[in-house]
Amino acid sequence: MQKEESTVVLQIPDTQTIAENHPTASRVQSPSSIKTFKQCPRKYYYSYILELETTSNIYQVRGNIAHSVLEHFFDIETSMISLNNYEQHLKLVMQNLLLKEWQNYKEELVKLELSQEQEIKYFEETLMMLFNWTNSFCQKIAKQQGTFQERFKKLTPIRELRYVSQEHAVQGFIDAIEHRDCGVCLMDYKTSSKQNIDEHLLQLGIYSLLYYEKHGVMPKQVGVYFLKGEESILEVDEELVEMAKKEIAHVHENTQTNNINDYPKQPGGLCKWSSGQCDFYNTCRPFEK
Ligand code: SF4
Repeated sequence: MQKEESTVVLQIPDTQTIAENHPTASRVQSPSSIKTFKQCPRKYYYSYILELETTSNIYQVRGNIAHSVLEHFFDIETSMISLNNYEQHLKLVMQNLLLKEWQNYKEELVKLELSQEQEIKYFEETLMMLFNWTNSFCQKIAKQQGTFQERFKKLTPIRELRYVSQEHAVQGFIDAIEHRDCGVCLMDYKTSSKQNIDEHLLQLGIYSLLYYEKHGVMPKQVGVYFLKGEESILEVDEELVEMAKKEIAHVHENTQTNNINDYPKQPGGLCKWSSGQCDFYNTCRPFEK
């Protein structure tokens, strides 16, 4: 039997209690903790067991800024916007929101010690990504019926909602839950240059599972807004959800101890690359015997 679908207010269970009551979990996992374990168990150990500090970078900070802008975009005052002027108006709104969020993140940006030229470059790049998203949003507005305000309201998603699964001991923040004509679609924003949805199947499968556990119905679709490109969507099917369940269970089963020897190093391209290195490279010394 299907549980009734609720909308905004979700009770958040205590994650420690969830882990304690779960047969195999030592902690509640997330798409990023599971991805880290798959990349390198030792990296998981440093990050989630020892909880060593990580260093921030401009790509993470500007990703957070873009997420904040898109979250607040749908709270704007729309009474002055009409079907004749919405494209220019929405771009102006986007630009102002970005300026505001950039300022809100100033402290974190200063820590990155960027030159003025670098900061301007990253600001402009972020603005282009957000304009790109605005263009596709405007195309969706054009396809709707009614006044601008009615169309905008119809396209407004539920945003940044935290879901926690007690059954699978996993949690996640869903960027945007959209009610499309075909059904519910869970969307994630990505600022990365790579635009391959297959690399995000695990995250999208976990979101589908989380949504199902809370609402008793599967979302119809999941997808990614690649802010440097286009949106990419796929239909939710059993295979996607079963894969997510399997990966979650695998990580729970293999992260039950705090013994470093149970978390082997996986040396490879993620240890060091041309412009950076793993946060834990100096602690790990992956290539030393
Ligand atoms: S440096 Fe390499 S082996 Fe060591 S934790 Fe990082 S990714 Fe894993």
